[in-house]
Amino acid sequence: MSVRPPVIPWATPQALSDYPEWPHAPSGILVEGHASWRQALPQIDNSQCKKCLQCYLLCPDAAISVSEDNKFVIDLELCKGCGVCIRECRFEAIRWSEEKK
Ligand code: SF4
Ligand code: SF4
Repeated sequence: MSVRPPVIPWATPQALSDYPEWPHAPSGILVEGHASWRQALPQIDNSQCKKCLQCYLLCPDAAISVSEDNKFVIDLELCKGCGVCIRECRFEAIRWSEEKK
């Protein structure tokens, strides 16, 4: 006989701080580190970046964050190289680059 896990009631978060602690995407989806999947490395050119937050919100692995000096940075422990950020950046501020292993 299988034992089902208890159902946890879901309350819609009202603020970013209501979401669970790391690791999670801004959308609230829990993420795992899949850096070993990466075949190429996305790089953000902050001189081109318009701070629209699109990449930050859409990265499925919550790998993009904003540094203290207001630059968008990619966490190489989390980025799996899926390319969503490159495709979604309307300002072509993210490009593939070769990764030095
Ligand atoms: S999607 Fe492009 S322009 Fe927008 S925050 Fe990300 S890097 Fe900057
Ligand atoms: S390629 Fe971009 S969208 Fe995909 S995991 Fe890496 S940072 Fe996130």
